[in-house]
Amino acid sequence: MSYAPPIQRLVTELAKLPGIGNRTAQRLAFHILRASGEDATALADAIRDVKERIGLCEVCFNLAEGPRCRICTDERRDPGLICVVEEPSDVIPIERLHEFRGRYHVLGGALSPIDGVDADDLRIAELYRRVEASDTPVREVVLATNPTTTGEATALHIAEELRERAPDVAVTRLASGLPVGSDLEYADEVTLGRAFAGRRAL
Ligand SMILES: [Zn+2]
Repeated sequence: MSYAPPIQRLVTELAKLPGIGNRTAQRLAFHILRASGEDATALADAIRDVKERIGLCEVCFNLAEGPRCRICTDERRDPGLICVVEEPSDVIPIERLHEFRGRYHVLGGALSPIDGVDADDLRIAELYRRVEASDTPVREVVLATNPTTTGEATALHIAEELRERAPDVAVTRLASGLPVGSDLEYADEVTLGRAFAGRRAL
């Protein structure tokens, strides 16, 4: 038995979500069919709204509503200290620590030649431009890419390049203590806090 085309379409779209197989997609589709029109519309509107209103910050490439994100528009955040992360989702666990008072730079991934991701595919040139710009002197760049093979390679690549381009800028890396091979997003606060406190020069 096959579903009516509108149902099949919903199942197909839901199945594209990460971690959602076909069975789960069907369950969710039937849940939406049973839900009130109001709830179903609220879900559809929330999806449309987030796509229409949320973009990338023109300075740090974090998620932003408008041209700049909340961190870049916050005058109290130190522009001389830049924490480099792979994805916008990595900003959240670091913010939760309430320890880091600088700004961010979101690369949009990590270097991975095997997957065809090189420096041009990431916001690396934009980072160098920020560091080299003289209006807000940068003192330190904290490389908080994931402790994975690609994250480490990315950190080393950027550290080397920064040493050439901006020898006066301290380049640090989060200390070990973070589980190797895992994502920053899933680190608990104590581990991440310790790693942050113990960051070292690269
Ligand atoms: Zn920003």
